[in-house]
Amino acid sequence: MQIATSLIAAIVLLTACQSTPAVKAPVTENPVPSAVLTWTATLPPTFTSSPQPTLTPSLTPIPSLTPTETPRLNIAPTLPYTDVHFIYHGDRDKPYVALTFDLCQKPEYPAWFDRGIVDVLTRYDAPATFFMGGDWMRTHVDETLLLASNPKFELGNHSWSHPDLPGLSEETINSEIVKTQNLLYQLTGRQGKLFRLPAGKYDDLTLGVIAWNGLYTIQWDVETGDPDPTIDAARMNWAVRERVQNGSIIVMHANGRGWHTAEALPEMIEYLRRQGYVLVTVSQLLGLEPIP
Ligand SMILES: [Zn+2]
Repeated sequence: MQIATSLIAAIVLLTACQSTPAVKAPVTENPVPSAVLTWTATLPPTFTSSPQPTLTPSLTPIPSLTPTETPRLNIAPTLPYTDVHFIYHGDRDKPYVALTFDLCQKPEYPAWFDRGIVDVLTRYDAPATFFMGGDWMRTHVDETLLLASNPKFELGNHSWSHPDLPGLSEETINSEIVKTQNLLYQLTGRQGKLFRLPAGKYDDLTLGVIAWNGLYTIQWDVETGDPDPTIDAARMNWAVRERVQNGSIIVMHANGRGWHTAEALPEMIEYLRRQGYVLVTVSQLLGLEPIP
């Protein structure tokens, strides 16, 4: 209860600190947008195998996993709509920190998967949250199943095609969210509760549609700069040491465009734990799930 109270205070404070006006969840008699009621999910026509990563030595081949035979619904169960939760960090009074990794992919600009990151997290028994693009999952089914096989990894939604959501129609924004929710559910049986904005860009409509889908919008307060190839592991770790504090959410990339991320992680995890921080998933950071 104390965490929840502090969290609500943090959310209110955060919302008040945004450069744009505070966003309130629309309250109407029927707050579900028409697009939710009329949109029909369709599976992408094919699941292609992922391209072999070729960029850096840390991008190693992925072992094949056999998809489960359990039949699943094609449509993820609808989450109840929620107030807008626009989160940059968790409780500043608790020593929890969340490592997060985005799996961005525009269909016309295929990405990869940095297996080295998973190897390090597994070696350190470190929880982490992965925000999965729908199109990325479509072309990386085995990798999606690999991530889902680790109970310490939380899986969130990172839109289908990684567009700039502000300016798009309500129906298009909804489709970006729902298609991704459905594919994550079809592949893994998991129902994500979290959404990460492509490039962190938002407007009131975007935040409203995310909330209508029952999801929390998760930004970050520690940027490592890992999509920039000139930012090496030492620089990434310097950024973390400078900026991390209680409740921090650290953003990195696991789609092969976090150039030195796997290399930076061991020192990062050791430093955070030495400082007394406890690594948790984002849902644990926010009190949505218990911390084991
Ligand atoms: Zn992204």
